[in-house]
Amino acid sequence: MTTNAAPIVRFAPSPTGRLHIGNVRTALLNWLFVKRNGGKFILRLDDTDTERSKEEYAEAIRTDLKWLGLHWHETFRQSDRTARYDEVAAQLKASGHLYPCYETEDELDRKRKRQMARGLPPTYDRAALKLTPEERAKNESEGRMPYWRFKLANTAKGSDAIASTPVRWHDLVRGEQTVDVGSLSDPVLVRAGGSYLYTFTSVVDDVDSKITHIIRGEDHVTNSGVQIQIFEALGAKPPSLAHFSLLVGRDGEALSKRLGSLSVDGFRDAGLEPMAVNAFSSLIGTSDAIQPYLTLDELGAIFDLGKLSRSPSRFDTAELEALNAKLLHITPYATVAERLKAIDCTGGEPFWQAVRGNLKTLADAIQWHTVTASEITPKIEDATFLAEAAALLPSEPWNETTWGQWADAVKAKTGRKGKTLFHPLRLALTAAENGPELKTLLPLIGRKRALARLEGKVA
Ligand code: GLU
Repeated sequence: MTTNAAPIVRFAPSPTGRLHIGNVRTALLNWLFVKRNGGKFILRLDDTDTERSKEEYAEAIRTDLKWLGLHWHETFRQSDRTARYDEVAAQLKASGHLYPCYETEDELDRKRKRQMARGLPPTYDRAALKLTPEERAKNESEGRMPYWRFKLANTAKGSDAIASTPVRWHDLVRGEQTVDVGSLSDPVLVRAGGSYLYTFTSVVDDVDSKITHIIRGEDHVTNSGVQIQIFEALGAKPPSLAHFSLLVGRDGEALSKRLGSLSVDGFRDAGLEPMAVNAFSSLIGTSDAIQPYLTLDELGAIFDLGKLSRSPSRFDTAELEALNAKLLHITPYATVAERLKAIDCTGGEPFWQAVRGNLKTLADAIQWHTVTASEITPKIEDATFLAEAAALLPSEPWNETTWGQWADAVKAKTGRKGKTLFHPLRLALTAAENGPELKTLLPLIGRKRALARLEGKVA
């Protein structure tokens, strides 16, 4: 009998900028996978690009993940693991999987041009593999430092000739996948000077972290073909792979250039709820409806990689905003109580129940707090009518039936109905054309304020 180990997944952003909607989708799909199936979620910081990686971005990534509620079980950064990469690289050099190269970018460029002129694919010709020890020594004595390529296993047995070599896997999103590593250049894994490239460090970490599932965007499909061979060269079994489709804009345009402006901190500053961002970025491109979910537990309960579509997922900010409003409309008071206090929206649960159905963002509650608990300048449309209505205001205590009683009495007295009845009352009581139902607002406004506003006074 085989026992399946608990899943171990990783979210591996490069700390070279803020998290954007595309990264959030990757983080969430991994996180929800573990939520649903159990296991461990590792936050790995891919900071091998020392020029562009910054600790402030790493910190911002942690802040953003915490804001979304995506906690990690373990975290580490690649820059702390150089000694381990040195060890594994030495192993691959000794086994002949890594070989030293000396060509400059210019030389490679000229080679590619020659190949293309002859109608050949511009892949690396492995010239460096044929260098004798003397030739290598000569290169190095001329001051050329070697960089190291990984020799893809893409030749037929007993031959040096590169041949079509399909690397296959069953992708948990895309189904049967094939990458022909016979059409690829041997990838550089170690730069001259000894620093490592992501393609390599990622595999070493995935092996050492015992990653069971790699869940990432389909821009990594070709990488997977190469990385599977690196896993194999290290004597490791490649994890299960899932490549989900990338986000595109509303009209199908690539989102890559706009991603910078679709950052988590931008969403936070715009007043969006973390659960709206979570629901939206995990539900787009799935067979589930985009609707609000109050908790990550609920999102996790319906999560299934098999629901992810292979076609690009459309991202539209307006849809995210609409989802945010829908989420607020069903959010219980307890969830937002602290945040309401922080923006001075007192009034507790009755206030929240009265206004939540009218909010686009939580900050919109401030306007209604002013209407119910502070001063506004009423808008007076018909002073005589308002005076008549004021005279009919019932005595307190007020509750949700008060509005109905009062409106009936005003209707009976003035003969008005519909908009001519309600509109002037709403404008006087709230100074706004639209808003929450007056039956819920009126008891919160209270008789004293209502009376003053109907008389045109600031109250
Ligand atoms: N740092 C890589 C990226 O952000 C990680 C890709 C992967 O998940 O392997 O694209």
